[in-house]
Order: sequence, then C-alpha cells, then structure tokens
Amino acid sequence: MLDSLKISFYYINSSLDVPSSWNLSRKHVRVQTTDGRFVKLNKFRNRLNAKELKDYCVKLSPVHVYMSVLNWLFPERVGKKYKGNYAVPFGNGEYVVDIDSYVTHRWHNHRYSKIWKVCKDCVEFSKQLTIHACLQLEWYYSDVHIVFSGKNGFHIHVLDFDIKDWTKFNYGDLVKTHEVARFKFSKIISLQTYCYDRAHFILSVDPMRVITVPNSLNAETGLVCTYIGDRKDLELQTAENIIVKSQPTKELYGYPEPFEAVKHTHKKGWGNIARVTAMTPQLRSFRSEK
Ligand SMILES: [Zn+2]
Repeated sequence: MLDSLKISFYYINSSLDVPSSWNLSRKHVRVQTTDGRFVKLNKFRNRLNAKELKDYCVKLSPVHVYMSVLNWLFPERVGKKYKGNYAVPFGNGEYVVDIDSYVTHRWHNHRYSKIWKVCKDCVEFSKQLTIHACLQLEWYYSDVHIVFSGKNGFHIHVLDFDIKDWTKFNYGDLVKTHEVARFKFSKIISLQTYCYDRAHFILSVDPMRVITVPNSLNAETGLVCTYIGDRKDLELQTAENIIVKSQPTKELYGYPEPFEAVKHTHKKGWGNIARVTAMTPQLRSFRSEK
C-alpha cells in the first residue's frame, strides 16, 4: 500500500478529472483513510465539486475514494439505509456492475508485476467478461461507461438506467423503488452473463452502495482507477496497456524535463559550481605565490 505522503502527493499533482458524465455535486462522497476509517465528506460541505474533492484528498490521503450510485437532493443526509428517503433520491441514479475475474473461479498461475500487485491475466480475463456484460447491457441502455478498478477488475456504469422501465414509482419509499428496479434488471442480466456471484448480485441491487470515483487512486495497489470510456474503447486496449496507463508515475515522481533543458542548465550550473569551489583556493594560492 502507498504511504499517506505519496497519496497526498498524487492528489497534489493530478487534476482528478471526473468525466462530466457524472454529476459529482449530487453524489454522496466518502473516503477510506489509511487507518481504515470512513469519512463522509458531505458532512463538511453538502455539495462537492472535483476541485474540492481533490483538496480533501490532499488533506486526508485516502486509500479509496467512493461516491454513491444514486444522485441525492441532500447528499449530506445519506447514512443508514432506513434513513435513505430522508436524503431524497434524485432522478434514476446509475446502475453499476462490478466485474472481477475471480467470479468464474478459473484457475491459473497469477503473473504479478514486481511493483504493482496486479495480475495481467486476471485483468485480461476481466476485460473479456466486461465486454460480454456490456454487450448484454447495451440491449437495454446505451450510455454505458467503463472504469478500471485499479486492481483486477472493472466497473460498468449504466448512466441512462431508468427505474420506470422495471417498476412502478412508489413516492412513499423511493429507495425501495430503486432497489426493486435494480433487482429485476439484475435478474435478467444475470441469466445472460457470467459476471455475478451472490455477493456481486447483491452489490448491483443495493441502491445505497458506493463505487470508486473515476480517476481517483486505489492506494492499495498504487494504480489509478482510470476512466476507460465505452465498450469500444475497452476493446481497443490490452490488459498491459491499461495497467501501464494507470501507473501514477508522473504524479508521484514528477514530469521528466525536456532533454535539451536538462543538458544546458545542468552542465552550466554544475560547471560553475565546480569552478567556484575547485578553482578559488588554487587561484588564491597562485596569486599569493606570484
Ligand atoms: Zn491472475
């Protein structure tokens, strides 16, 4: 796991671009700190934008940054499930599927890289599962986005999910309405794909769940949860590409200077310093001898 100094350093240098497809100000945002605590950021400020979220991340150096799948009228009130209606869900929210390669229990020798504890084969396999799941989801909805989880899987976000397609609107219990709609849709998708085990099915149904913020850092592995795009963007990339793209090398270790700039400034600078320190005593003694 990255230490808190490095995590803060990442957020200082990254711009934390949350793609505009997500309306962060309607989301309930919470972070998990290095000591395992969850901190609800909406308690300090009821609406958050990407810039404010970035500032909090610099300050708190979180291991994970999460946002709610539902949009809320009062994000600061989100807490326990039975209190959900008090925070008032706003619109349809999104439907999220977690894809992990382990759900199929396919045995293989993991090939972990030395620095990043991520297996290329697992990512490649998750990629195939994700593409398959997206093909099924696209029968129903078209605004489907994919985010790398920073570990061995992907998150599929269906942003034009509509609860009215699956159930009647119950204005008395909006959270329940969201849950029923998600349950019916998950049931259909689970029959057509292999991406759910019991735990993942429950996660997709739960309207109170949270999901990683796109382009935030997964400090457990040290990789960025890179926003990939739609299914076609994912198809074009190999697992290795995705892992390389998600390494926060530039944010953690700085941007390399152009070769010419390095050559000139350093040569001149060091030359001057060397001349000053080495020549001065010699010059002095030479002059005194004369
Ligand atoms: Zn593996």
